[in-house]
Amino acid sequence: MRKRIVIIGAVALGPKVAARLRRLDPDVQITVVDRDNLISYGGCGIPYYVGGDIADIEGLCSTSFHVVRDAKFFRDSKGVNVLTGVEAVSINRKEKKIDVQYMADGKKDSLEYDKLVIATGATPFTPPIPGVDLPMVFSVANLHSAKAIKDTISKGMVENAVVVGAGAIGIEMAEALTDLWGIKTTIVEMADQVLPMALGKNISRIVENTLKESDVDLLLSEKLVRINGDAQSGVTSVETTGGQIECDMVILSAGIRPNTKFASDAGLAVGRSGGLLVDSRMRTTDPDIYAGGDCVEVKNLVSGENMMMPLGSLANRQGRIIADNIHGRPSQFKGMVGTFCIKVFDSGVATAGLTVDQARRNGFDPVHAMVSQPDRAHFYPTASMMYIELIADRNTRKVLGIEAVGSQGDAVKARVDAVAPLLQSGITVDDICTLEVGYAPPFASAMDIINNAGNVLDNILEGGNKPMDALEFFEKFANDEIKVIDVRQPKEVESCIERYKDKWGNIPQSELKKRLDEIPKDEPVCLVCGTGARSYECQRLLNHNGFVNVRNVQGGHTLLVALNPEFF
Ligand SMILES: Cc1cc2nc3c(=O)[nH]c(=O)nc-3n(C[C@H](O)[C@H](O)[C@H](O)COP(=O)(O)OP(=O)(O)OC[C@H]3O[C@@H](n4cnc5c(N)ncnc54)[C@H](O)[C@@H]3O)c2cc1C
Repeated sequence: MRKRIVIIGAVALGPKVAARLRRLDPDVQITVVDRDNLISYGGCGIPYYVGGDIADIEGLCSTSFHVVRDAKFFRDSKGVNVLTGVEAVSINRKEKKIDVQYMADGKKDSLEYDKLVIATGATPFTPPIPGVDLPMVFSVANLHSAKAIKDTISKGMVENAVVVGAGAIGIEMAEALTDLWGIKTTIVEMADQVLPMALGKNISRIVENTLKESDVDLLLSEKLVRINGDAQSGVTSVETTGGQIECDMVILSAGIRPNTKFASDAGLAVGRSGGLLVDSRMRTTDPDIYAGGDCVEVKNLVSGENMMMPLGSLANRQGRIIADNIHGRPSQFKGMVGTFCIKVFDSGVATAGLTVDQARRNGFDPVHAMVSQPDRAHFYPTASMMYIELIADRNTRKVLGIEAVGSQGDAVKARVDAVAPLLQSGITVDDICTLEVGYAPPFASAMDIINNAGNVLDNILEGGNKPMDALEFFEKFANDEIKVIDVRQPKEVESCIERYKDKWGNIPQSELKKRLDEIPKDEPVCLVCGTGARSYECQRLLNHNGFVNVRNVQGGHTLLVALNPEFF
Protein backbone atom coordinates (compact mmCIF):
# COMPACT_ATOMS: atom_id res chain seq x y z
CA MET A 1 0.00 0.00 0.00
CA ARG A 2 1.18 3.54 -0.73
CA LYS A 3 2.45 5.39 2.33
CA ARG A 4 -0.21 7.91 3.45
CA ILE A 5 0.91 11.36 4.55
CA VAL A 6 -1.66 13.77 5.92
CA ILE A 7 -0.74 17.42 6.41
CA ILE A 8 -2.94 19.82 8.40
CA GLY A 9 -2.45 23.43 7.27
CA ALA A 10 -1.74 24.67 3.75
CA VAL A 11 -0.05 28.08 3.91
CA ALA A 12 3.73 27.97 4.40
CA LEU A 13 4.99 24.84 6.16
CA GLY A 14 2.30 22.47 4.84
CA PRO A 15 2.82 23.13 1.10
CA LYS A 16 6.60 23.08 1.59
CA VAL A 17 6.46 19.59 3.12
CA ALA A 18 4.11 18.39 0.37
CA ALA A 19 6.17 19.77 -2.52
CA ARG A 20 9.53 18.53 -1.19
CA LEU A 21 8.13 15.12 -0.35
CA ARG A 22 6.69 14.74 -3.82
CA ARG A 23 10.07 15.58 -5.32
CA LEU A 24 11.66 12.92 -3.10
CA ASP A 25 9.04 10.25 -3.61
CA PRO A 26 6.68 10.05 -6.60
CA ASP A 27 4.63 7.26 -5.01
CA VAL A 28 3.74 8.54 -1.58
CA GLN A 29 0.08 9.60 -1.13
CA ILE A 30 -0.11 13.18 0.14
CA THR A 31 -3.29 14.83 1.41
CA VAL A 32 -3.32 18.39 2.74
CA VAL A 33 -6.33 19.81 4.60
CA ASP A 34 -6.99 23.42 5.46
CA ARG A 35 -10.06 25.00 6.97
CA ASP A 36 -9.50 28.03 4.75
CA ASN A 37 -10.15 28.20 1.02
CA LEU A 38 -7.14 30.42 0.30
CA ILE A 39 -3.92 28.44 0.53
CA SER A 40 -0.20 28.59 -0.13
CA TYR A 41 0.09 32.36 -0.04
CA GLY A 42 2.81 34.77 1.07
CA GLY A 43 1.28 36.14 4.27
CA CYS A 44 4.43 38.23 4.75
CA GLY A 45 3.35 40.27 1.73
CA ILE A 46 0.04 41.36 3.34
CA PRO A 47 1.28 44.80 4.50
CA TYR A 48 2.60 45.51 1.00
CA TYR A 49 -0.71 44.48 -0.54
CA VAL A 50 -2.60 46.75 1.89
CA GLY A 51 -0.08 49.52 1.27
CA GLY A 52 -0.38 49.26 -2.50
CA ASP A 53 3.08 47.95 -3.45
CA ILE A 54 1.34 44.76 -4.54
CA ALA A 55 -1.76 45.66 -6.48
CA ASP A 56 -3.72 42.39 -6.53
CA ILE A 57 -4.18 39.73 -3.92
CA GLU A 58 -3.43 37.09 -6.59
CA GLY A 59 0.16 38.33 -6.48
CA LEU A 60 0.46 36.78 -3.01
CA CYS A 61 -0.93 33.39 -4.01
CA SER A 62 0.81 32.91 -7.35
CA THR A 63 4.03 31.27 -8.42
CA SER A 64 6.82 33.38 -9.91
CA PHE A 65 5.48 32.22 -13.28
CA HIS A 66 2.02 33.65 -12.47
CA VAL A 67 0.03 30.49 -11.80
CA VAL A 68 -2.33 30.65 -8.83
CA ARG A 69 -1.40 28.07 -6.19
CA ASP A 70 -4.83 26.56 -5.52
CA ALA A 71 -6.01 23.00 -5.00
CA LYS A 72 -6.05 22.38 -8.77
CA PHE A 73 -2.45 23.58 -9.09
CA PHE A 74 -1.33 21.20 -6.34
CA ARG A 75 -3.26 18.29 -7.83
CA ASP A 76 -2.13 18.83 -11.45
CA SER A 77 1.43 20.05 -10.94
CA LYS A 78 2.47 18.33 -7.74
CA GLY A 79 0.22 15.28 -7.45
CA VAL A 80 -0.93 16.48 -4.04
CA ASN A 81 -4.55 16.24 -2.93
CA VAL A 82 -5.59 19.45 -1.17
CA LEU A 83 -8.93 19.62 0.66
CA THR A 84 -9.88 23.21 1.43
CA GLY A 85 -12.66 24.28 3.79
CA VAL A 86 -11.91 21.20 5.88
CA GLU A 87 -11.03 21.49 9.55
CA ALA A 88 -9.09 18.89 11.51
CA VAL A 89 -10.95 18.53 14.81
CA SER A 90 -9.16 15.68 16.57
CA ILE A 91 -6.36 13.17 16.27
CA ASN A 92 -6.85 9.51 17.09
CA ARG A 93 -3.24 8.50 17.61
CA LYS A 94 -4.04 4.87 18.41
CA GLU A 95 -5.85 4.30 15.13
CA LYS A 96 -3.62 6.78 13.28
CA LYS A 97 -6.39 8.88 11.82
CA ILE A 98 -7.66 12.42 12.10
CA ASP A 99 -11.30 13.46 12.32
CA VAL A 100 -12.22 16.29 10.01
CA GLN A 101 -15.27 18.44 9.43
CA TYR A 102 -16.29 20.13 6.19
CA MET A 103 -16.90 23.79 6.95
CA ALA A 104 -19.58 24.25 4.28
CA ASP A 105 -22.07 21.58 5.37
CA GLY A 106 -20.75 20.28 8.69
CA LYS A 107 -20.14 16.82 7.21
CA LYS A 108 -17.70 14.73 9.22
CA ASP A 109 -15.09 12.33 7.93
CA SER A 110 -11.77 10.83 8.91
CA LEU A 111 -8.41 10.49 7.20
CA GLU A 112 -5.97 7.71 7.98
CA TYR A 113 -2.27 8.43 8.06
CA ASP A 114 1.06 6.70 8.31
CA LYS A 115 2.72 10.02 9.07
CA LEU A 116 0.91 13.17 10.13
CA VAL A 117 2.24 16.74 9.82
CA ILE A 118 0.79 19.56 11.91
CA ALA A 119 1.23 22.90 10.14
CA THR A 120 -1.65 24.76 11.71
CA GLY A 121 0.18 28.01 12.41
CA ALA A 122 -1.13 30.52 14.91
CA THR A 123 -4.06 32.88 15.46
CA PRO A 124 -3.76 36.58 16.32
CA PHE A 125 -4.33 37.24 20.00
CA THR A 126 -7.49 39.22 20.75
CA PRO A 127 -7.22 41.13 24.03
CA PRO A 128 -10.16 40.34 26.34
CA ILE A 129 -11.54 43.88 26.45
CA PRO A 130 -14.89 45.49 25.55
CA GLY A 131 -15.38 46.43 21.91
CA VAL A 132 -13.13 43.90 20.14
CA ASP A 133 -16.15 42.50 18.27
CA LEU A 134 -17.19 45.85 16.80
CA PRO A 135 -17.22 46.42 13.05
CA MET A 136 -14.01 48.11 11.85
CA VAL A 137 -11.87 46.13 14.31
CA PHE A 138 -9.48 43.89 12.37
CA SER A 139 -6.71 41.41 12.98
CA VAL A 140 -4.11 40.68 10.36
CA ALA A 141 -4.83 36.98 10.33
CA ASN A 142 -4.88 35.91 6.70
CA LEU A 143 -5.72 37.05 3.17
CA HIS A 144 -9.40 37.48 4.05
CA SER A 145 -8.60 40.08 6.70
CA ALA A 146 -6.02 41.69 4.38
CA LYS A 147 -8.66 42.05 1.69
CA ALA A 148 -11.26 43.32 4.17
CA ILE A 149 -8.84 45.98 5.46
CA LYS A 150 -7.86 47.14 1.98
CA ASP A 151 -11.45 47.17 0.70
CA THR A 152 -12.55 49.26 3.69
CA ILE A 153 -9.72 51.75 3.31
CA SER A 154 -10.09 52.10 -0.42
CA LYS A 155 -13.75 53.10 0.03
CA GLY A 156 -12.45 56.15 1.88
CA MET A 157 -14.07 55.04 5.14
CA VAL A 158 -11.01 55.58 7.33
CA GLU A 159 -9.40 58.83 8.40
CA ASN A 160 -7.91 57.82 11.73
CA ALA A 161 -6.64 54.38 12.65
CA VAL A 162 -5.21 52.84 15.79
CA VAL A 163 -2.80 49.93 15.52
CA VAL A 164 -2.46 47.95 18.74
CA GLY A 165 1.04 46.52 19.16
CA ALA A 166 4.39 47.78 17.90
CA GLY A 167 5.73 44.41 16.83
CA ALA A 168 6.69 43.77 13.21
CA ILE A 169 3.15 43.37 11.89
CA GLY A 170 1.88 46.45 13.74
CA ILE A 171 4.70 48.60 12.37
CA GLU A 172 4.30 47.27 8.82
CA MET A 173 0.56 47.88 8.92
CA ALA A 174 1.04 51.41 10.30
CA GLU A 175 3.35 52.15 7.39
CA ALA A 176 0.85 50.69 4.91
CA LEU A 177 -1.98 52.88 6.27
CA THR A 178 0.11 56.05 6.43
CA ASP A 179 2.26 55.86 3.35
CA LEU A 180 -0.23 55.12 0.61
CA TRP A 181 -3.56 56.04 2.15
CA GLY A 182 -2.58 59.05 4.24
CA ILE A 183 -4.53 57.73 7.21
CA LYS A 184 -3.60 59.36 10.51
CA THR A 185 -2.28 56.36 12.39
CA THR A 186 -1.45 55.87 16.05
CA ILE A 187 0.39 52.84 17.39
CA VAL A 188 -0.39 51.88 20.98
CA GLU A 189 2.24 49.66 22.60
CA MET A 190 2.27 48.52 26.21
CA ALA A 191 6.05 48.05 26.33
CA ASP A 192 8.27 51.12 26.64
CA GLN A 193 9.74 50.62 23.16
CA VAL A 194 8.89 49.35 19.69
CA LEU A 195 9.81 45.81 18.60
CA PRO A 196 10.34 44.81 22.24
CA MET A 197 11.00 41.15 21.42
CA ALA A 198 13.63 41.96 18.81
CA LEU A 199 15.52 45.13 19.68
CA GLY A 200 17.31 46.79 22.57
CA LYS A 201 16.79 50.38 23.65
CA ASN A 202 19.23 52.09 21.25
CA ILE A 203 18.15 50.75 17.87
CA SER A 204 14.48 50.73 18.87
CA ARG A 205 14.74 54.47 19.68
CA ILE A 206 15.98 55.13 16.14
CA VAL A 207 13.04 53.14 14.74
CA GLU A 208 10.67 55.14 16.95
CA ASN A 209 12.07 58.37 15.53
CA THR A 210 11.63 57.06 11.99
CA LEU A 211 7.98 56.32 12.73
CA LYS A 212 7.39 59.76 14.24
CA GLU A 213 9.15 61.52 11.34
CA SER A 214 6.87 59.56 9.01
CA ASP A 215 3.77 60.93 10.77
CA VAL A 216 2.92 57.85 12.80
CA ASP A 217 1.91 58.73 16.36
CA LEU A 218 3.47 56.42 18.89
CA LEU A 219 2.11 55.83 22.38
CA LEU A 220 4.50 53.67 24.37
CA SER A 221 3.87 52.19 27.84
CA GLU A 222 0.12 52.39 27.19
CA LYS A 223 -2.32 49.51 27.20
CA LEU A 224 -5.56 49.23 25.28
CA VAL A 225 -8.45 49.19 27.74
CA ARG A 226 -11.60 49.42 25.61
CA ILE A 227 -12.81 50.06 22.07
CA ASN A 228 -15.79 52.39 21.82
CA GLY A 229 -18.46 52.47 19.12
CA ASP A 230 -21.60 50.60 18.10
CA ALA A 231 -22.71 47.92 15.71
CA GLN A 232 -24.07 50.47 13.18
CA SER A 233 -21.31 53.03 12.88
CA GLY A 234 -18.44 50.82 14.01
CA VAL A 235 -15.51 52.17 15.99
CA THR A 236 -15.45 55.76 17.25
CA SER A 237 -12.49 55.75 19.64
CA VAL A 238 -10.24 53.64 21.82
CA GLU A 239 -9.37 54.09 25.45
CA THR A 240 -5.88 53.32 26.65
CA THR A 241 -4.32 53.58 30.08
CA GLY A 242 -3.12 57.01 28.92
CA GLY A 243 -6.32 58.51 27.49
CA GLN A 244 -8.75 58.40 24.57
CA ILE A 245 -7.96 58.39 20.83
CA GLU A 246 -10.62 59.17 18.22
CA CYS A 247 -10.48 56.67 15.35
CA ASP A 248 -12.61 54.82 12.83
CA MET A 249 -10.51 51.69 12.46
CA VAL A 250 -8.58 49.47 14.87
CA ILE A 251 -6.00 46.90 13.82
CA LEU A 252 -5.09 44.39 16.50
CA SER A 253 -1.53 43.09 16.20
CA ALA A 254 -0.79 42.19 19.78
CA GLY A 255 0.85 38.81 19.32
CA ILE A 256 -0.29 35.36 18.33
CA ARG A 257 -1.27 32.06 19.92
CA PRO A 258 -0.39 28.67 18.37
CA ASN A 259 -3.25 26.55 16.93
CA THR A 260 -2.45 23.45 18.94
CA LYS A 261 -5.50 22.71 21.10
CA PHE A 262 -6.63 19.66 19.12
CA ALA A 263 -3.04 18.37 19.17
CA SER A 264 -2.53 18.86 22.89
CA ASP A 265 -5.95 17.27 23.50
CA ALA A 266 -4.50 14.23 21.74
CA GLY A 267 -1.70 14.15 24.32
CA LEU A 268 1.11 15.79 22.32
CA ALA A 269 3.41 17.80 24.58
CA VAL A 270 3.39 21.59 24.36
CA GLY A 271 5.77 24.14 25.88
CA ARG A 272 5.12 27.22 28.00
CA SER A 273 3.87 29.22 25.01
CA GLY A 274 1.43 26.49 23.97
CA GLY A 275 3.59 25.66 20.95
CA LEU A 276 4.17 21.96 20.25
CA LEU A 277 7.46 20.53 21.45
CA VAL A 278 9.52 18.95 18.69
CA ASP A 279 12.94 17.32 18.50
CA SER A 280 15.69 18.26 16.06
CA ARG A 281 13.98 16.18 13.37
CA MET A 282 10.74 18.11 13.91
CA ARG A 283 8.99 15.11 15.52
CA THR A 284 6.46 15.79 18.25
CA THR A 285 6.30 13.52 21.28
CA ASP A 286 4.60 11.02 18.94
CA PRO A 287 7.26 9.86 16.43
CA ASP A 288 4.64 9.45 13.69
CA ILE A 289 3.54 13.07 14.02
CA TYR A 290 5.69 15.95 12.84
CA ALA A 291 5.05 19.65 13.37
CA GLY A 292 6.67 22.93 12.37
CA GLY A 293 6.13 26.60 11.61
CA ASP A 294 4.17 28.94 13.86
CA CYS A 295 2.60 26.13 15.92
CA VAL A 296 5.86 24.85 17.47
CA GLU A 297 8.48 25.99 19.92
CA VAL A 298 12.06 25.99 18.71
CA LYS A 299 15.34 26.26 20.55
CA ASN A 300 17.12 29.60 20.67
CA LEU A 301 20.73 28.54 20.15
CA VAL A 302 22.16 31.54 21.99
CA SER A 303 20.05 31.39 25.14
CA GLY A 304 19.25 27.67 25.04
CA GLU A 305 15.59 28.55 25.69
CA ASN A 306 12.64 27.02 23.87
CA MET A 307 10.38 29.68 22.34
CA MET A 308 7.97 30.44 19.54
CA MET A 309 9.60 32.20 16.60
CA PRO A 310 6.81 32.79 14.08
CA LEU A 311 8.70 33.43 10.88
CA GLY A 312 7.93 32.34 7.34
CA SER A 313 11.65 31.80 6.75
CA LEU A 314 11.80 29.18 9.50
CA ALA A 315 8.55 27.52 8.41
CA ASN A 316 9.97 26.92 4.95
CA ARG A 317 13.26 25.53 6.24
CA GLN A 318 11.53 23.28 8.71
CA GLY A 319 9.18 22.02 5.98
CA ARG A 320 12.12 20.66 4.05
CA ILE A 321 13.48 18.92 7.16
CA ILE A 322 10.12 17.27 7.82
CA ALA A 323 9.84 16.01 4.24
CA ASP A 324 13.37 14.62 4.40
CA ASN A 325 12.64 12.75 7.61
CA ILE A 326 9.38 11.31 6.38
CA HIS A 327 11.32 10.07 3.38
CA GLY A 328 13.90 8.44 5.66
CA ARG A 329 16.67 11.02 5.51
CA PRO A 330 17.50 12.19 9.05
CA SER A 331 17.99 15.91 8.36
CA GLN A 332 17.99 18.12 11.42
CA PHE A 333 16.75 21.54 12.40
CA LYS A 334 19.07 22.46 15.25
CA GLY A 335 17.35 25.67 16.27
CA MET A 336 17.53 29.36 15.48
CA VAL A 337 19.02 32.64 16.66
CA GLY A 338 16.00 34.82 15.86
CA THR A 339 17.33 36.38 12.66
CA PHE A 340 14.82 38.99 11.66
CA CYS A 341 14.55 41.99 9.36
CA ILE A 342 11.95 44.64 8.65
CA LYS A 343 11.53 47.70 6.47
CA VAL A 344 10.31 50.76 8.37
CA PHE A 345 9.47 53.50 5.86
CA ASP A 346 12.83 54.50 4.37
CA SER A 347 14.97 52.47 6.70
CA GLY A 348 15.89 48.84 7.15
CA VAL A 349 16.30 47.11 10.50
CA ALA A 350 17.84 43.70 11.14
CA THR A 351 18.72 41.72 14.23
CA ALA A 352 19.90 38.30 15.41
CA GLY A 353 20.57 36.78 18.81
CA LEU A 354 19.78 38.43 22.13
CA THR A 355 19.31 42.05 23.14
CA VAL A 356 21.22 43.35 26.15
CA ASP A 357 18.18 42.86 28.41
CA GLN A 358 17.46 39.38 27.07
CA ALA A 359 21.12 38.44 27.58
CA ARG A 360 21.00 39.64 31.17
CA ARG A 361 17.77 37.72 31.83
CA ASN A 362 19.49 34.60 30.50
CA GLY A 363 22.34 34.86 32.98
CA PHE A 364 24.98 36.51 30.78
CA ASP A 365 26.96 39.63 31.68
CA PRO A 366 26.39 41.60 28.47
CA VAL A 367 28.70 44.32 27.18
CA HIS A 368 27.79 46.19 24.03
CA ALA A 369 29.35 48.45 21.41
CA MET A 370 27.35 51.00 19.41
CA VAL A 371 28.97 51.96 16.16
CA SER A 372 28.00 54.68 13.66
CA GLN A 373 29.66 54.39 10.27
CA PRO A 374 28.76 54.86 6.61
CA ASP A 375 27.44 51.65 5.07
CA ARG A 376 29.92 51.97 2.16
CA ALA A 377 33.10 53.98 1.54
CA HIS A 378 32.49 57.44 3.01
CA PHE A 379 33.61 59.04 -0.28
CA TYR A 380 31.15 57.04 -2.37
CA PRO A 381 28.12 59.18 -3.33
CA THR A 382 25.42 56.84 -2.00
CA ALA A 383 27.11 56.27 1.37
CA SER A 384 24.61 56.52 4.17
CA MET A 385 24.98 56.24 7.95
CA MET A 386 24.39 52.83 9.53
CA TYR A 387 24.21 52.02 13.24
CA ILE A 388 25.22 48.64 14.65
CA GLU A 389 24.96 47.36 18.18
CA LEU A 390 27.10 44.32 18.92
CA ILE A 391 26.59 42.47 22.19
CA ALA A 392 28.93 39.98 23.87
CA ASP A 393 29.36 38.25 27.18
CA ARG A 394 32.01 39.93 29.34
CA ASN A 395 33.52 36.74 30.71
CA THR A 396 33.66 34.51 27.65
CA ARG A 397 33.71 37.23 24.91
CA LYS A 398 31.06 35.12 23.19
CA VAL A 399 28.98 37.20 20.78
CA LEU A 400 25.35 37.15 21.92
CA GLY A 401 23.57 39.45 19.49
CA ILE A 402 23.69 42.06 16.79
CA GLU A 403 21.21 44.78 15.80
CA ALA A 404 21.47 47.22 12.92
CA VAL A 405 19.54 50.05 11.30
CA GLY A 406 20.19 52.27 8.30
CA SER A 407 18.52 53.81 5.32
CA GLN A 408 19.72 51.14 2.89
CA GLY A 409 18.02 47.98 4.07
CA ASP A 410 20.00 45.57 1.91
CA ALA A 411 23.24 46.83 3.44
CA VAL A 412 21.82 46.52 6.95
CA LYS A 413 20.57 42.99 6.33
CA ALA A 414 23.91 41.97 4.76
CA ARG A 415 25.81 42.86 7.96
CA VAL A 416 23.44 41.04 10.29
CA ASP A 417 23.22 38.04 7.95
CA ALA A 418 27.01 37.79 7.98
CA VAL A 419 27.02 37.34 11.75
CA ALA A 420 23.73 35.50 12.40
CA PRO A 421 24.74 32.02 11.20
CA LEU A 422 27.92 32.20 13.26
CA LEU A 423 26.05 32.93 16.50
CA GLN A 424 25.00 29.27 16.57
CA SER A 425 28.57 28.08 16.91
CA GLY A 426 29.52 30.44 19.70
CA ILE A 427 31.87 32.87 17.96
CA THR A 428 33.79 35.45 19.96
CA VAL A 429 34.38 39.17 19.49
CA ASP A 430 37.79 38.35 18.01
CA ASP A 431 36.09 36.46 15.18
CA ILE A 432 34.03 39.57 14.37
CA CYS A 433 37.20 41.72 14.25
CA THR A 434 38.57 39.48 11.52
CA LEU A 435 35.30 38.46 9.88
CA GLU A 436 36.01 38.20 6.17
CA VAL A 437 33.56 40.31 4.20
CA GLY A 438 33.85 41.71 0.71
CA TYR A 439 35.00 45.23 -0.02
CA ALA A 440 34.48 47.62 -2.90
CA PRO A 441 33.66 51.32 -2.31
CA PRO A 442 30.09 51.07 -3.70
CA PHE A 443 29.27 48.36 -1.11
CA ALA A 444 31.47 48.79 1.95
CA SER A 445 34.48 50.44 3.56
CA ALA A 446 37.88 48.78 3.56
CA MET A 447 37.39 48.42 7.29
CA ASP A 448 33.81 47.30 7.21
CA ILE A 449 31.40 48.52 9.88
CA ILE A 450 31.00 44.94 11.06
CA ASN A 451 34.77 44.62 11.71
CA ASN A 452 34.74 48.00 13.40
CA ALA A 453 31.90 46.92 15.67
CA GLY A 454 34.10 43.98 16.70
CA ASN A 455 37.10 46.25 17.21
CA VAL A 456 35.17 48.72 19.36
CA LEU A 457 33.74 45.93 21.49
CA ASP A 458 37.22 44.41 21.81
CA ASN A 459 38.58 47.77 22.99
CA ILE A 460 35.76 48.08 25.51
CA LEU A 461 36.28 44.55 26.83
CA GLU A 462 40.03 45.16 27.11
CA GLY A 463 39.34 48.31 29.13
CA GLY A 464 41.01 50.72 26.69
CA ASN A 465 37.76 52.22 25.45
CA LYS A 466 35.67 53.65 28.28
CA PRO A 467 32.35 54.30 26.63
CA MET A 468 29.27 56.16 27.70
CA ASP A 469 26.04 54.95 26.20
CA ALA A 470 24.16 57.67 24.31
CA LEU A 471 21.02 57.17 26.42
CA GLU A 472 23.07 57.46 29.61
CA PHE A 473 24.65 60.60 28.17
CA PHE A 474 21.26 62.33 27.79
CA GLU A 475 20.37 61.50 31.37
CA LYS A 476 23.68 62.65 32.83
CA PHE A 477 23.70 65.80 30.70
CA ALA A 478 20.20 66.74 31.84
CA ASN A 479 21.26 66.26 35.47
CA ASP A 480 24.45 68.32 35.00
CA GLU A 481 26.53 65.32 36.02
CA ILE A 482 29.10 65.57 33.24
CA LYS A 483 31.30 68.13 31.57
CA VAL A 484 31.07 67.79 27.78
CA ILE A 485 34.12 68.36 25.63
CA ASP A 486 33.45 68.12 21.94
CA VAL A 487 36.67 67.30 20.06
CA ARG A 488 35.39 68.07 16.56
CA GLN A 489 36.46 71.12 14.56
CA PRO A 490 34.90 74.43 15.75
CA LYS A 491 32.65 74.65 12.69
CA GLU A 492 31.14 71.22 13.42
CA VAL A 493 30.38 72.22 17.01
CA GLU A 494 28.87 75.70 16.44
CA SER A 495 25.22 74.70 16.73
CA CYS A 496 25.78 72.69 19.92
CA ILE A 497 27.59 75.59 21.59
CA GLU A 498 24.90 78.00 20.47
CA ARG A 499 22.24 75.79 22.00
CA TYR A 500 23.97 74.65 25.18
CA LYS A 501 26.40 77.57 25.74
CA ASP A 502 29.00 76.81 28.42
CA LYS A 503 27.59 73.33 29.04
CA TRP A 504 29.14 72.27 25.70
CA GLY A 505 32.91 72.81 25.48
CA ASN A 506 35.08 72.51 22.40
CA ILE A 507 38.71 71.48 22.20
CA PRO A 508 39.51 70.14 18.71
CA GLN A 509 41.45 66.86 18.74
CA SER A 510 44.42 68.57 17.06
CA GLU A 511 44.73 71.04 19.99
CA LEU A 512 44.04 68.67 22.85
CA LYS A 513 47.67 67.95 23.78
CA LYS A 514 48.37 71.68 24.15
CA ARG A 515 45.23 72.46 26.14
CA LEU A 516 45.26 69.73 28.78
CA ASP A 517 45.20 72.34 31.55
CA GLU A 518 41.65 73.34 30.49
CA ILE A 519 40.30 69.90 31.33
CA PRO A 520 39.15 69.29 34.89
CA LYS A 521 40.81 66.34 36.63
CA ASP A 522 38.35 66.11 39.48
CA GLU A 523 35.00 65.89 37.64
CA PRO A 524 33.52 63.43 35.11
CA VAL A 525 34.40 64.43 31.55
CA CYS A 526 32.52 63.19 28.55
CA LEU A 527 34.09 63.41 25.10
CA VAL A 528 31.99 63.74 21.98
CA CYS A 529 32.97 63.65 18.30
CA GLY A 530 31.22 62.77 15.04
CA THR A 531 30.98 59.00 15.33
CA GLY A 532 33.00 58.06 18.40
CA ALA A 533 36.37 57.41 16.71
CA ARG A 534 38.10 60.73 17.44
CA SER A 535 36.68 60.93 20.97
CA TYR A 536 38.09 57.44 21.68
CA GLU A 537 41.56 58.56 20.59
CA CYS A 538 41.24 61.65 22.77
CA GLN A 539 40.09 59.56 25.70
CA ARG A 540 43.25 57.44 25.33
CA LEU A 541 45.41 60.55 25.19
CA LEU A 542 43.81 61.95 28.32
CA ASN A 543 44.17 58.61 30.13
CA HIS A 544 47.90 58.60 29.30
CA ASN A 545 48.13 62.06 30.82
CA GLY A 546 46.58 61.06 34.09
CA PHE A 547 42.91 61.89 33.49
CA VAL A 548 41.02 58.88 34.79
CA ASN A 549 37.45 60.13 34.89
CA VAL A 550 36.97 60.39 31.13
CA ARG A 551 34.51 58.55 28.92
CA ASN A 552 33.56 58.90 25.29
CA VAL A 553 30.08 58.80 23.79
CA GLN A 554 29.51 55.63 21.77
CA GLY A 555 28.46 56.38 18.21
CA GLY A 556 29.22 60.10 18.71
CA HIS A 557 27.15 63.11 17.74
CA THR A 558 25.67 61.20 14.78
CA LEU A 559 24.09 58.63 17.06
CA LEU A 560 22.97 61.27 19.56
CA VAL A 561 21.08 63.00 16.74
CA ALA A 562 19.58 59.72 15.51
CA LEU A 563 18.38 58.87 19.01
CA ASN A 564 17.16 62.28 20.05
CA PRO A 565 16.81 64.76 17.18
CA GLU A 566 15.05 67.33 19.39
CA PHE A 567 18.11 67.53 21.64
CA PHE A 568 20.00 69.43 18.92
C1 LIG B 1 1.14 40.38 8.12
C2 LIG B 1 2.21 39.38 8.30
C3 LIG B 1 3.51 39.69 7.91
C4 LIG B 1 4.53 38.75 8.07
N1 LIG B 1 5.79 39.08 7.68
C5 LIG B 1 6.79 38.18 7.80
C6 LIG B 1 8.09 38.46 7.32
O1 LIG B 1 8.34 39.55 6.78
N2 LIG B 1 9.06 37.54 7.48
C7 LIG B 1 8.82 36.31 8.05
O2 LIG B 1 9.73 35.48 8.15
N3 LIG B 1 7.56 36.00 8.50
C8 LIG B 1 6.56 36.90 8.39
N4 LIG B 1 5.29 36.57 8.82
C9 LIG B 1 5.07 35.27 9.47
C10 LIG B 1 4.77 34.15 8.48
O3 LIG B 1 3.72 34.51 7.64
C11 LIG B 1 4.42 32.89 9.26
O4 LIG B 1 5.53 32.56 10.08
C12 LIG B 1 4.09 31.72 8.37
O5 LIG B 1 2.98 31.97 7.60
C13 LIG B 1 3.81 30.48 9.24
O6 LIG B 1 3.47 29.44 8.42
P1 LIG B 1 2.68 28.18 8.97
O7 LIG B 1 2.50 27.27 7.80
O8 LIG B 1 3.34 27.63 10.16
O9 LIG B 1 1.27 28.71 9.49
P2 LIG B 1 0.16 29.64 8.84
O10 LIG B 1 0.71 30.47 7.77
O11 LIG B 1 -0.52 30.32 9.97
O12 LIG B 1 -0.86 28.60 8.20
C14 LIG B 1 -1.60 27.73 9.00
C15 LIG B 1 -2.82 27.24 8.22
O13 LIG B 1 -3.39 26.18 8.99
C16 LIG B 1 -4.80 26.29 8.93
N5 LIG B 1 -5.36 25.61 10.11
C17 LIG B 1 -5.21 25.93 11.41
N6 LIG B 1 -5.84 25.05 12.20
C18 LIG B 1 -6.42 24.16 11.36
C19 LIG B 1 -7.21 23.01 11.58
N7 LIG B 1 -7.52 22.57 12.79
N8 LIG B 1 -7.65 22.32 10.50
C20 LIG B 1 -7.35 22.75 9.23
N9 LIG B 1 -6.60 23.83 8.98
C21 LIG B 1 -6.13 24.52 10.03
C22 LIG B 1 -5.05 27.79 8.94
O14 LIG B 1 -6.30 28.07 8.37
C23 LIG B 1 -3.91 28.30 8.05
O15 LIG B 1 -4.33 28.37 6.73
C24 LIG B 1 4.25 37.49 8.66
C25 LIG B 1 2.94 37.18 9.04
C26 LIG B 1 1.94 38.12 8.86
C27 LIG B 1 0.53 37.76 9.29
